[in-house]
Amino acid sequence: MHEFSIACEIFEQVMTTAKEHGATEVKHVTLQMGRLSHTNPEQLSFCFKVLSEESIAENADFIVEMIPPSLECECGYTGTVDEEKIRENCEFKSELLAYAAVMECPICGKPAQITGGRELIIKSIEIETEDQN
Ligand SMILES: [Zn+2]
Repeated sequence: MHEFSIACEIFEQVMTTAKEHGATEVKHVTLQMGRLSHTNPEQLSFCFKVLSEESIAENADFIVEMIPPSLECECGYTGTVDEEKIRENCEFKSELLAYAAVMECPICGKPAQITGGRELIIKSIEIETEDQN
């Protein structure tokens, strides 16, 4: 499963960071996930839960924030996809097709390049250390 290998990587990064800071417990892990990353956030959360069993991240809240794809146009425009428009385009069967339909530059109207939206970033990790107690 695609999500499991991603969850492994995230888990290792979280544990490495937590150990570097002398954590006794991991409280929150917040991820930012591009909408085009083809990753299921529920499955990812589930895999993370399984991996973190009996570790200091066992009770961590695993939060996934979805971020819209970013666009870049040859006219110099950069921005993100208008997510309101995506919702209006609900006649499209696939979310990706809906995105494709609105990926034109709002300034000049030409098709814009997708420059982001596939990323998966650990935004923040909240830990408990012995010093705080
Ligand atoms: Zn443009």
